[in-house]
Amino acid sequence: MASGDEPPQFRVLGTFEVSRGNRRCTPTAPKQRALLALLALHANEFVPTSRIVDQLWARGAPRSAVAALHGYVTAVRRVLTPSWVSSRTSHPILNTRPSGYVLCLEPHQLDLTRFRELAKQGQTAMAAGDCARARETFAVAVSLWRGAPLADLRETGMFDHDISRLEREYLEVLRNRFDVMLCNGDGHLAVFDLEELCRTYPLWERFHEQLMLALCQAERRADALTAYARAYRLLSNQAGIEPGPRLRAMHQLILNGEDPFDRGHRHERVLTGLQLAHTVSP
Ligand SMILES: [Zn+2]
Repeated sequence: MASGDEPPQFRVLGTFEVSRGNRRCTPTAPKQRALLALLALHANEFVPTSRIVDQLWARGAPRSAVAALHGYVTAVRRVLTPSWVSSRTSHPILNTRPSGYVLCLEPHQLDLTRFRELAKQGQTAMAAGDCARARETFAVAVSLWRGAPLADLRETGMFDHDISRLEREYLEVLRNRFDVMLCNGDGHLAVFDLEELCRTYPLWERFHEQLMLALCQAERRADALTAYARAYRLLSNQAGIEPGPRLRAMHQLILNGEDPFDRGHRHERVLTGLQLAHTVSP
């Protein structure tokens, strides 16, 4: 790579963005942008040409698709490395392989890689009982999100599967993050966000459960019972199901006037007592 070529940075946790140094260089041509986004989502993995064609021409590829793809590859290579001369050298980042391509990125070049690393580190800290550390790690992971993933490519319908997968990963990190907050008894700080999550994702029972616990910690037991009634209604209206055992157990506990956090160290209370927080995964 020539000295003037700064390594490109890719961001998928929001609108799709490519930049070099402080300059944005996201391709504006829709197919070029989609091609780069697809390769970035699978950074350092072999992506077969057939798969790229299927995804870029979801409504059926014309016979010229592969030739068109070669043109897009050349164009995006110039965007990524302006000094690159196609006839002389192989490209340093977007490699050609037999029947496919690999976009080779260092972890710091892609927000998704960083997010996944942090999510994993947070889980490890949590499993080791270091919830304070986990909490910090999850907060950094969440801060990498600038909005709905690949927001500008959503309408193309090409990335439905990838987008829903990213959203699921995000919700799992949020869930873990609230678990460690609740483990520390900081429910009052989580109520607002959890109420919003329960509205947006009414079928994620875990958020309802966390909201009830958060309200209890905020000394709002009556509101926690109201939250249960709302969860009950949402689950039965939207999915025809009743709350699962964890949610029902939480409800019963509040009705009985029992306090999930009445003695001992917070983390231990969760571990030895009701097991309402992170010791049991859904
Ligand atoms: Zn804990």
